[in-house]
Amino acid sequence: MIYCDVSLPVPLDQSFTYELPETLQHRVQPGCRVLVPFGVRKLTGVVVELHDRAPEGPVKEALRLIDEEPVLDATLLALGRWIAQYYCAPLGEVLRSMTPLSGEVRKTRLYSLTDAGRDAARQFVMGASEEDSAVQVLQLLDTRPLSASYLQKKMPNATRVIRSLEKKGLVAIEDLEAERDPLRASSARLRASWLGPNPDGQKLTKRERELHAFLELHPGTHNLGELEASVTGASQAARSLARRKLIALEPEAPTGVFASEGPPHTLNPHQLEAYQQIEEALRSGKFHTFLVQGVTGSGKTEVYLKGIDACIALGRSALLLVPEIALTPAVAGQFFHRFGDRVAILHSAFHDAERAEQWRRIRDGLATVVVGTRSGVFAPVQNLGLVVIDEEHDQSYKQQETPRYNGRDVAIVRAQAAGAVVVLGSATPSLESRYNAERGKYTRIQLPERIERRPMPDVEVIDMRQEFLETRKLATFSHRLVESITERLEKGEQTMLLLNRRGFSSFVACRACGERLECIDCAVTLTYHRRDRRMLCHYCNYAQKVPTVCPKCGSEYLHFVGTGSEKVEEELHRDFPTARIARMDRDTVSGKRHFESILHGFREGDYDILVGTQMIAKGHDIPNVTLVGIVSADVGLGLPDFRAAERTFQLLTQAAGRAGRGDLPGIVLIQTINPEHYAVRYASEQNYDGFYEKEIQFRKLMRYPPFSALANVLVRSQKQEEALALSTELGEMLDPAPEGLKILGPAEAPVPKLKSEFRYQLLIKAASRKRLNETLRELREFARERKWNPTALVIDVDPLTLM
Ligand code: ADP
Ligand code: ZN
Ligand code: ZN
Repeated sequence: MIYCDVSLPVPLDQSFTYELPETLQHRVQPGCRVLVPFGVRKLTGVVVELHDRAPEGPVKEALRLIDEEPVLDATLLALGRWIAQYYCAPLGEVLRSMTPLSGEVRKTRLYSLTDAGRDAARQFVMGASEEDSAVQVLQLLDTRPLSASYLQKKMPNATRVIRSLEKKGLVAIEDLEAERDPLRASSARLRASWLGPNPDGQKLTKRERELHAFLELHPGTHNLGELEASVTGASQAARSLARRKLIALEPEAPTGVFASEGPPHTLNPHQLEAYQQIEEALRSGKFHTFLVQGVTGSGKTEVYLKGIDACIALGRSALLLVPEIALTPAVAGQFFHRFGDRVAILHSAFHDAERAEQWRRIRDGLATVVVGTRSGVFAPVQNLGLVVIDEEHDQSYKQQETPRYNGRDVAIVRAQAAGAVVVLGSATPSLESRYNAERGKYTRIQLPERIERRPMPDVEVIDMRQEFLETRKLATFSHRLVESITERLEKGEQTMLLLNRRGFSSFVACRACGERLECIDCAVTLTYHRRDRRMLCHYCNYAQKVPTVCPKCGSEYLHFVGTGSEKVEEELHRDFPTARIARMDRDTVSGKRHFESILHGFREGDYDILVGTQMIAKGHDIPNVTLVGIVSADVGLGLPDFRAAERTFQLLTQAAGRAGRGDLPGIVLIQTINPEHYAVRYASEQNYDGFYEKEIQFRKLMRYPPFSALANVLVRSQKQEEALALSTELGEMLDPAPEGLKILGPAEAPVPKLKSEFRYQLLIKAASRKRLNETLRELREFARERKWNPTALVIDVDPLTLM
């Protein structure tokens, strides 16, 4: 085979053929990454086919093989093709997001001379002045390819110079994605253990011999940082021994773990029944999907754990996906505790090198239990027997950039191909999943009560309009809420307060002329952030100073409108000066670590009150919380999105579910000006089925999912006329609507301008998925023929948000 077809991360629906130089011919396999020339650059792509069919015209040679073994096996390549097809995304971009590129390998961009550049470098040697920075760059590059950061160190304006040299065709860019050595993680994050005797008497240094002997005499795994403290030079010796496979070095479990865990619980009768059904399906070895609908606190996790046990006992592997925010050390710790070194955790707190190590352990079949977030669905799990998707309704399973896949749905497709069992779990299943259960596509299993028959929390709805009439004040907290918080503080119990809006005030308006301060790049108002003393765009992060006068009319009468989580925190400090208060939202939580430390502190009782956005509503199991207050249930209700009610219901129900999970019963107070809205009503009754019945009627009537296949087609451009013209063209192409399709728009998108781009959108509802897919393909073909800018057309299949 002398040719390979390579799928490159470019927005084009095709692969590219390259010739294999002799040195690569027997080493390249489908699923390996190769470095190839593409225009003036070099790109990394995935080999999808090897063949002997000479293409027409000239063909370039592949430059380098990146992986000696495929990073994507045949199953994953097939899954990638399915994603590209179903989500109408270019295969190269899909494969790129499936390969562990970003995690396991370091990206470097190297600059090298083209032939013309080499000539130029040598000509310049004679004559040109030394100060000329272009000459200096050329001469540096004449020695070897260099990275931008290296050049930048040599001369501050290197980037600009390179860009101009590149334009002149003198310099080429090479995007390298070199593999990182997994053993480069710091010692404190590695554990060492003995693997076996030194078979062929390899020469070891004195230190290596000592360490090898030490590990043989002390079975089990040892933290390398600690070893280093007692055995000098242990760290270096360990790495060298690990390279020779005499000892193993493995990533440490994330820190802060080991919070909970005693022995496994004995399943209660509902859990047992759920487990037995799953176990039976596992034994039959056939694809089957369960929807475990269990109220908050019903012990779903324990059912998953037992299911995973059963799966491993049958000699197969298990994959568990959790929402982004949920993969805390507490959760990870539970898994380490339960499955020891058979578990691989794809946790963002790990360094790249550690992730690479996890990835290898999974691929080599050493890790048979894999826990990860959305992209974990692409882990190279061998012999997959069970896939669990916790909180299956969670929005973080949907990727919001190309490829816009839903990890839950991809997981089901993967499981189907593998003949594996799927368990979807939630207290508030997505309408789609619940409907699939109703149609018999999934088997529904219910866990109708909390563990140990603990009561569901009592929920009260507080009508804030009434509150206003009585007090004539626009208060953030109702009397009832203040009273209840005071009571918790007195009893030493904990409170969680949810307001799903960041910042201090929502926006600034001028009382004189009505002007609202907007982002310069987006058609949205800026949010006031008091601590940072700035106005911030929540869509693009643009920031500016807080105005003291109206930028339009100069009036001083500026009015800060609305309340965000930052203001809630401040008012709490004012009203409860002795309370210990923590806030958790994207402004206080910079890194993953910080988020975990707040949560850990709250669990340990360091705080009385935790305020936050939806982050605090997800999955957390903190027994001492006996009051949950929803500062405003109205935040998401008014959004022009058919999922607004569903999302509000889920958020309120999940938040309410954080109360009374321990021995003490809990209460929930929901403040709202929409007390009769069905999402609020059913959430206050914690009545999922009631909500489902009502919402499904609405979806049916309006032909929204699950009664149609939906796609959001977005057209964007820096120029408004162009965005409008292109979207009009698409609209005309779809007029009259092809049979079986209903087209809404084109119309201005709910956020008409974002990051300097004007946006128009079309919604397509289709009776059949096949028709929808065909139509979307026609749209892409249309855009390609007319040479639209490749980023002008965005297709979102099964969108979760229309904003
Ligand atoms: P859910 O995810 O359904 O909201 P969890 O899985 O977090 O609920 O379980 C709630 C709590 O009940 C956890 O603290 C868990 O350890 C505990 N638990 C689960 N199963 C049992 C059981 N059979 N007996 C006693 N406690 C249990
Ligand atoms: Zn004004
Ligand atoms: Zn903006």
